[in-house]
Amino acid sequence: MSVFDDLAGQDAAIGVLRRAAMDARSGGTGMTHSWLFTGPPGSGRSTAARAFAAALECTGDEAGCGECHGCRTVMAGSHPDVEILASEVTTITVASVRELVSRAQASPTAGAWRVLIIKEADRMLERTTNVLLKAIEEPPPRTVWILCTPSPRDVLTTIRSRCRGLNLVIPSPEKVAELLVRRDGIDPERALVAARAAQSHVGAAKALAADSTVRERRELNLRAAYRVRTTGDAVLAAKELLDRSEEQAKSTGGAREDRDHADLRRSMGLAPGEAIPPAMRSQFKQLADEGKKRETRQKRDAFDRALIDLLSFYRDVLIVQLEAGTDLVNVDFEREISEIADATTAEKTIDILEHIALARERIGANVAPQLALEAMMIALRRG
Ligand SMILES: [Zn+2]
Repeated sequence: MSVFDDLAGQDAAIGVLRRAAMDARSGGTGMTHSWLFTGPPGSGRSTAARAFAAALECTGDEAGCGECHGCRTVMAGSHPDVEILASEVTTITVASVRELVSRAQASPTAGAWRVLIIKEADRMLERTTNVLLKAIEEPPPRTVWILCTPSPRDVLTTIRSRCRGLNLVIPSPEKVAELLVRRDGIDPERALVAARAAQSHVGAAKALAADSTVRERRELNLRAAYRVRTTGDAVLAAKELLDRSEEQAKSTGGAREDRDHADLRRSMGLAPGEAIPPAMRSQFKQLADEGKKRETRQKRDAFDRALIDLLSFYRDVLIVQLEAGTDLVNVDFEREISEIADATTAEKTIDILEHIALARERIGANVAPQLALEAMMIALRRG
C-alpha cells in the first residue's frame, strides 16, 4: 500500500515525487519549495498533490508508506501542517490567498514540512497571483507550495518560472478502470465502459460507473442530440439539456447549502425555528451569496460535462466515417453512431464538432447558456 495508489497511469510522475520526498529527508538541501502540478482535468492533479504532501510528512521507511501517522492524517485531510485551498466558485479570492500566504510563514508544528496546496491556481486573477509571487519566491526553509492547473500556460510566466513543473498524463482507460475496480469495487466491464465514455477522467468515470442518475443523464443528453431533426427539436433539446444540468447542479449544491445553513444557525446559538435577528442577517446573506456562486460554478461544470460528452459522441461518428479504426469512446452507443455516420458526411461532422466547441467557449465566456446551446443544437439537425 502507498499514498500514490489512487493515481492511475502516472508511473513517471510518481517516480519523481517519491525521489523528491526521499531527498527531502536528507536535510532538504536539494528540496524544491515550489511546485507546479499540471495535467488535464481528471488526471489526478490534486490527488498527486495530496499524496506528495503525505510522502513529505511520512515517517515510514519508504516515503509515502500509507500506514504511518503522517501519511494517514494527510490522506484523511486532518494533518495540521497541510492545507489545501480549493475554489468552489469561479475565482479564488485575494483574501483567501493572503491568509494562506501568512500561514505559510509559520514553521510546521507536527510534521517535517508545512505544505500549502492551491488546487485550481488557474482560477486566480492577476492581482491575486501577485500576492502569491513573493511567497513562492522566498519561502521559509520548511515550507512547500504546490500549485495545480490544467496546463503550465494557465499561470503567469513569473509564477511558472519560479516553480518546478510536474506533468501528469491522460491515463489509459484500462488504467482508470483498474483503479475503479481496485478502489471502488466496481465491476470490471462496467468500469471500462465508463472509463472510455469519460475519456479517462477519473472522477467522471467513477460517477458514471457508480451513480445511475449520472449514467441516465449522459444517455439522455446523447439521445436528445441524436434525435434532433427540426429547429423545433433543437430548441427543445437545448432546453432539456439545460434543465438536466441545472438539476444536477442543484442536487450537488442543495444538500451542502442546507447543511451550511444549519451549521451557521447552530454556531450563532439560534434555536430551531427561531427568526434570524437583524444583527446576524449579513452573515446569513454572505452564506447565501457563496451558495449562489457555487451553484453557478456547478451549473457551468455540468453544461461543460454534457458538451464534452457530445464532442466525444461526434468524434466517434467521425472516426467511423473516416474509417480511422480507433477505439470508440461511447461503445454503448455504437448503433446510433454508425447510423449517423452512414446518413451524413465527415464534413458535416467536423462542422458539428466546431459548433459544440464554440458553444463551450461561449458558455465559458458567460454567454447565456440557453442561446449558446440552441445555436449548437440547430447545427446538429439532420434533415
Ligand atoms: Zn508514511
